[in-house]
Amino acid sequence: MPPLVYRAEAYEEADRFRECKWGCAHDHESVEHAFNCGVAWLNDQADGTAVQMA
Ligand SMILES: [Zn+2]
Repeated sequence: MPPLVYRAEAYEEADRFRECKWGCAHDHESVEHAFNCGVAWLNDQADGTAVQMA
């Protein structure tokens, strides 16, 4: 089994195609780490972007 890694990705909530706007370059070991990474990034953006995990 390959290790599972998670990356935070962000997309415009208003974009119905949900084109990926940003993705972190880390290999997070848990969804929680990736989520926290995405939230930290979002705190610098302050727009209608939502974060999802991949
Ligand atoms: Zn990250």
